[in-house]
Amino acid sequence: MSRAGSIRKLEGKVALITGAASGIGKETAIKFINNGAKVILADIQKDNGSQTARDLGPNAAFIPCDVTNESEISAAVDFAVSTHGHLDIMYNNAGIPCQTPPSIVDLDLSTFDRIMAVNLRGTVAGIKHAARVMIPRRRGVILCTASVTGIVGGLSQHTYSVSKSAVIGAVRSASSEMCRHGIRINCVSPMAIPTPFAIDELKKYYPGVDPVRLVEMVDGLSTLDGAVCEPADVANAAVFLASDEAKFITGHNLVVDGGFTSI
Ligand code: NAD
Repeated sequence: MSRAGSIRKLEGKVALITGAASGIGKETAIKFINNGAKVILADIQKDNGSQTARDLGPNAAFIPCDVTNESEISAAVDFAVSTHGHLDIMYNNAGIPCQTPPSIVDLDLSTFDRIMAVNLRGTVAGIKHAARVMIPRRRGVILCTASVTGIVGGLSQHTYSVSKSAVIGAVRSASSEMCRHGIRINCVSPMAIPTPFAIDELKKYYPGVDPVRLVEMVDGLSTLDGAVCEPADVANAAVFLASDEAKFITGHNLVVDGGFTSI
């Protein structure tokens, strides 16, 4: 129980979150800690990441980690284990937007490779190294951030959609193997949220437009009357999937989209 009397769903758990210096990852780190977990925040943003960890207090620590570099993911996993003795929850959340032209005809395949290196390869490497330390314990939870664009085309651009579809596929595929080791793997698929990820991308397409207007544009995509998607909505889904309340859920893609993909 917390001091406020609410149930702490991740009491004593050790979690590693990539892309934790900002947005969904940072909000999830906050909620994991509020639910009793110890959290290692991993990110390429060293200043933001270490400041965030300091702000979150003694149950947070930061490790610089570029998910495109397998040895850095491996080192982050080993850091979690050497600091806390084991790893219970790995959240592969780091991702980048598309930055490619609207038409596939103009697609530069080196850009395709760069997006895939973060969004897909980084996620698969995270699954690999988490499984490496979780299999001997015969328990663990792996989460990944996909996207509604991995389900429907047209909301985002080609390469990003492909990368997130592939994340959903990687989760399904890995979960079928990890079942027998007692490890659950799920992903969350958020709707558009006005984090730096989305706003910085929109600035390229609408230079000079007031950022407040850009936030309104993202929020305007919401299909659920009176509600907009926030990092906390995704973080709440991650807490649930990471907790024992989801003990029979694996290979699942939990959409957090206000009904967007069902309309
Ligand atoms: P964000 O920009 O607030 O956070 C992304 C974080 O990932 C940043 O801290 C960034 O430094 C980190 N990162 C980027 N490249 C990295 C790398 N190579 N190694 C380690 N860290 C790296 O954005 P966000 O919206 O919180 O994005 C989190 C995830 O949510 C991403 O996977 C994104 O694709 C996904 N997503 C976002 C939206 C949205 O509209 N914001 C919608 C659906 C899915």
